[in-house]
Amino acid sequence: MASCNVHEARQQILHAVHLLPGRRESLSAAAGCVLAADVVSPGNLPPWDNSAMDGYAVRAADVSSASQNNPLHLRVTGAVAAGQAAAVPVEPLTCQRIFTGAPLPPGADAVVMQEDTRSHPEGFVAILEAVEVGENIRRVGEDVPAGVVVLPAGTVLGPGQAALAAALGFAELEVHPRPRVGVLVTGAELVEPGRPLQVGQIYDSNSFAIAGWLRAAGCEPVELGIADDTKEDLAEKIDYALSECDALITVGGVSVGEYDLVKAVLEELGCHQSFWKVNMKPGKPFVFGTRGRQLIFGLPGNPVSAAVTFLILARPALLKLRGVTDVELPAVSAVVEEDFVNRGERPHFMRGRLERRDGHWQVRPLAQQGSHMLTSLAKANCLVEVAEASTITRGTIVKCQTF
Ligand code: AMP
Ligand code: MG
Repeated sequence: MASCNVHEARQQILHAVHLLPGRRESLSAAAGCVLAADVVSPGNLPPWDNSAMDGYAVRAADVSSASQNNPLHLRVTGAVAAGQAAAVPVEPLTCQRIFTGAPLPPGADAVVMQEDTRSHPEGFVAILEAVEVGENIRRVGEDVPAGVVVLPAGTVLGPGQAALAAALGFAELEVHPRPRVGVLVTGAELVEPGRPLQVGQIYDSNSFAIAGWLRAAGCEPVELGIADDTKEDLAEKIDYALSECDALITVGGVSVGEYDLVKAVLEELGCHQSFWKVNMKPGKPFVFGTRGRQLIFGLPGNPVSAAVTFLILARPALLKLRGVTDVELPAVSAVVEEDFVNRGERPHFMRGRLERRDGHWQVRPLAQQGSHMLTSLAKANCLVEVAEASTITRGTIVKCQTF
């Protein structure tokens, strides 16, 4: 089977994605999710006129002549704090003590801030500044009027958006849920960190990278453990994953060796293989398939291959699944500090280190680019795509896909 171009592969995968249907979630569970329906304000925000200051609620006309040299004395007929309602209206030539956030008493049309007053014995206050009608008042509905779309469907519910929804009284919102994504690492040699290693064994590192990036992409990883390189174990674990998850990521066992059984097992379980092998380095043996609406990404086992194929091929589709429209890795343009050299015959996604120096972004390739080398993965913060048999020379401006 001929290998597919990486950009075509990505398009083909994106094309296979059906957005997860919306459902109601509590506001805290909805954090970070994409809204599946418009949020319409059920009422005004603020819900009533209220004071923006600690001070005195007055009738502006009463204090129009007040100044430092000409203090005006008003009788204080009451006090209203945040959480209370005024007991009596403000009559002419009277005022009421008021605190930030308290509802404006009827009759008052402005607030004189406390700093512009001098308290006075026997229930009076000296006003030292005139105020305009409306001054220091937060008007009903000035932030949000009732009945308008405040957050359109498709908005990501970040902290600011969640605060607005909460202020409008929403305890639940309709959102696209976080995809549950199974992570199944495969290989008879793999051992969970924390256990002793026998000869020939290595620790599973991929689970940790993939689960971390899944969480960062707003997905919920479902860790399925380590599968042995046998059809029986793979079939049992993949079958379970497909009964539980919206998407599945397998790692390892998709190459051409006798122990690379993932593709055969997927086929036996009724998965449709869309393509196998992508013309990229690292990550060539990547396989993509579907079962119904479920997405299946078979990543190669070398840790850097798994990382790069996850970031370049799987991540965009998983973001789309949860309703995100901007699915690209955040890109930064940077000046190349050291040549990026690709002598190979496939486009190479090279690990780079991006740093801001003297106000400019600069990027250099990391020394160890082998697809099993984790130190450079740990140091890297971006990928730079270098076309086959080419060099991106020092001084060039290049697009860095950050992670
Ligand atoms: P495979 O794609 O199964 O042929 O694996 C390719 C290489 O990646 C082999 O050297 C494996 O031992 C290694 N490998 C596979 N899975 C993992 C994993 N989860 N963690 C670390 N290394 C792995
Ligand atoms: Mg293997």
